[in-house]
Amino acid sequence: MKVMIAGLATETNTFSPIPTGMHAFQEGFFDRESTKRAPGFFSAPLHEWNRLAQERGWEVIESLCTFAQPGGVTTRSTYETLRDEILDDLKRAAPDILLLSLHGAMIAEGYEDCEGDILKKARDILGESGVIGVEIDLHTHLTDDMMQAADIIVAFKEYPHIDTAERAVEVFELAAATAEGSIKPVMRDFDCQMVAMYQTPREPMKSFVADMQAREGQHTILSLSLIHGFPWGDCARVGTRMLAISDGDVEAADQTAAEFGQRLQSLRDYFKADWPDIPEALNYASRSEKFPVVLADFADNAGAGAPADSTFVLKEVLRLGLKDVGIAIFWDPGAVMMAREAGIGALLRVRLGGKVDVASGQPIDIAVTVRNIQEYMTQPLGAANIKMGTGVWLEMDGVHMIVSDHRTQAFHPDCFEKLGLDIDTLKIVVVKSSQHFYAGFAPRASEVVYIKGAGAVTPNYASIPYKLKSTAYWPRDDIGFET
Ligand SMILES: [Zn+2]
Repeated sequence: MKVMIAGLATETNTFSPIPTGMHAFQEGFFDRESTKRAPGFFSAPLHEWNRLAQERGWEVIESLCTFAQPGGVTTRSTYETLRDEILDDLKRAAPDILLLSLHGAMIAEGYEDCEGDILKKARDILGESGVIGVEIDLHTHLTDDMMQAADIIVAFKEYPHIDTAERAVEVFELAAATAEGSIKPVMRDFDCQMVAMYQTPREPMKSFVADMQAREGQHTILSLSLIHGFPWGDCARVGTRMLAISDGDVEAADQTAAEFGQRLQSLRDYFKADWPDIPEALNYASRSEKFPVVLADFADNAGAGAPADSTFVLKEVLRLGLKDVGIAIFWDPGAVMMAREAGIGALLRVRLGGKVDVASGQPIDIAVTVRNIQEYMTQPLGAANIKMGTGVWLEMDGVHMIVSDHRTQAFHPDCFEKLGLDIDTLKIVVVKSSQHFYAGFAPRASEVVYIKGAGAVTPNYASIPYKLKSTAYWPRDDIGFET
């Protein structure tokens, strides 16, 4: 057998003003021999595929693997260039199996469904006899084009995405069994008519994930994926869908997708994001008797395309006069440059944050001490080691700000501690992240509190100004679910 492996991923926030061009991919991750490097977020599956194929003595052709930090719409030329590089390799390689690591919520100028487009073109090249297996982020807009072109689609099950490697093994095994003729996968999905975010380390999602896994391998069910959807990508298919793959059994795939999809609908009250606003969250945390309390600034998550330079929380921390507070990670290359020039220990006037978009609020003028500077920082998440760029620790009167020149979210306490700031010495730790912070920070936190604040990815799902979504959804519309 001959297997070709490749990756192309970004998550597009169509409301973000940050363009996603070639530089964003080169800055993010860009390699034609990605399995020779440490695993990145979307390259981790390629490591598994390469290893499993080698174990079987199969030939592996490695094409481009690249991904960009989520931002605004990808430019047409960038998408077409990257897509065509992979498709040209596919034409030359003519493999039995194509395995792709895609995001599922990539939108480019002229392409509302990049994954559907690349999969359709790959199918045209490969013909009906070739097998196409895909691993996607669960924050996907699952489309008919994707399902028709691919044989196998498996999404991450965990949010935070700590299971990319495990899901890659499943994609490989299902694709291999298909190529060997021992299974005939059929995929069916169920539209949950919901737009929300679902945190899998907590109930009720923890049991939902466990039950999906328990059902896999039962009767004819091969794989189940809850496609959470990505609320800030305006397109016709935005929303949550349940995907089932069965072995040749259309009815079982249909019924199982509907069963799990309806179960999610019945749990909808858990997903209202009924959280405290910024003053409520800060006041609550400051009154806690156990520290550190971790506050998630959900709305300024770079991983969902936000600028990561909003100042709403910092402004309130200063207004309340709170101390022993750490906030990470502000994206402010200008402030990083100034701190570098001034050096460690220097006093500096900075105009921090609030630069990219009106959704970031106003910049804040403060006098800070440069406590530390580190180049080439990284943060771990699952099997991946994620780039953080140059990190700077700025302090003003017990308020500690971690600033970076590379736009990324706070994944792990390393973003503080590699700079020398132990989070156990803080009362309040604010992370600009919706959920990926959870794996690293929750074990160290006295409590985790999500903030319903202003910002580019505010969790007011009912008020996202969609132009392209024409179907009704909870929580905006009164749907009258059966459950
Ligand atoms: Zn995701």
